[in-house]
Amino acid sequence: MVNIDKVKKKSTSMSPIAVPDADRLAKICYQTFESISKTGKPILGKEWTVLSCIAKYEHHTKDLEVVSLGTGTRCIGRSLLSNQGDKLNDSHAEVMCRRGFLLYLYDEISKAMDPEENSIFSFNESKKKFEISSDISFHFMTTFAPCGDASIFDIESSRSEEVIEPSESKRSKLHEPRDEKSIDNTKTTNFTGAKLIYKNTEVPQDLMAQSIGDVRTKPGRGEPTLSISCSDKLAKWNVLGLQGALIYSLLDKPIYYSSITLCDHQHCDIEAAKRAIWKRFTNTKFSPEKPFTVNQPLIQMSRGKKFKYERNMDRDPAPGSIVWSKLKKCVHQVSVNGKLQGATKKSGGRLKISKIELFRCYFEILKKFNDKLNIFEGDVDFTSLRYCDAKSQSTEYQQVWKNLKRDYFKVWATKPSEINMFIIS
Ligand SMILES: [Zn+2]
Repeated sequence: MVNIDKVKKKSTSMSPIAVPDADRLAKICYQTFESISKTGKPILGKEWTVLSCIAKYEHHTKDLEVVSLGTGTRCIGRSLLSNQGDKLNDSHAEVMCRRGFLLYLYDEISKAMDPEENSIFSFNESKKKFEISSDISFHFMTTFAPCGDASIFDIESSRSEEVIEPSESKRSKLHEPRDEKSIDNTKTTNFTGAKLIYKNTEVPQDLMAQSIGDVRTKPGRGEPTLSISCSDKLAKWNVLGLQGALIYSLLDKPIYYSSITLCDHQHCDIEAAKRAIWKRFTNTKFSPEKPFTVNQPLIQMSRGKKFKYERNMDRDPAPGSIVWSKLKKCVHQVSVNGKLQGATKKSGGRLKISKIELFRCYFEILKKFNDKLNIFEGDVDFTSLRYCDAKSQSTEYQQVWKNLKRDYFKVWATKPSEINMFIIS
């Protein structure tokens, strides 16, 4: 039996998109997480983590399957950034999951050129672009409020919809910030440990002020990070698409998520997530060129079973971050401090979702199909192509990103340009 799914009416002229029910989505995400090997999973009862998944929904069959998942709560400080593209700066669940989704997309793009394979894409010879099947939509799920703007909300108004009151012990935990235990704030606000970014760093500023709609860097007590909060990244993907600049150069349009399911109704708030992900753009002059748009995903709450490794103040955050991606041969790897767990200089081994390995996927597509695509003309020596130059070839994408920063994300943290100059050696 299939649940009757909600129908999300888009504000544009597009036909309504059916969205799988929140509890069904959460259930399938937990089942997929349970089905993968225990490598990198938290120790039950001792550790906690956040789980994020992207599920593919086929409208005519109503089949729902997880194509990418990520766990994790860590990111590295600015002094540990690598110029080789081999380290993950950000290992939060949402980011792990999205990078796993990029692997999935590259795999599907390769399959589209193989008549023996089924793919979500087909190649349009006249456009020289890959097109995604109109029968497919993607749905994002996460077990905790994304860090940053979506974590700031008034608990009392959020909880007024609740039927069951939590015990006092649970209630006291609601007032603790997600990411930092030591911040003092009002008693009725769920707040974030993600830090505000200021242009003028000479004047002392309150990095922890709980103003809404602002860009923040990731929470954490160690060395400051240049990684942007998950709320801001989700908002960026909600305009530019989940596929990023490189894959966009291969496609006819960006790939958006059609819904976001939040799975912890005690620590998440639908209105705060809406604000963080798209409503905060609505009062600005920002209006992206087509085919880009400010997507308006349905944001829903699962009230079914909770994640068994959910955040618990009596437990430690798990040190590793998992990425799992549904490919012909599924990828399951664990990141610790931004590197593949267990890899040594001698043994080598990299995360398949590191920038350089994802760039290698792009490189493989170019090597095979460059004559069919409309990206680089003539014979190009791809071995000397720098990552930053490949990204800047995606001109429509870069223009929308530039305008989004001009009109809204004015203080987006920039990393040193050297970290994007690597080539595939
Ligand atoms: Zn986060």
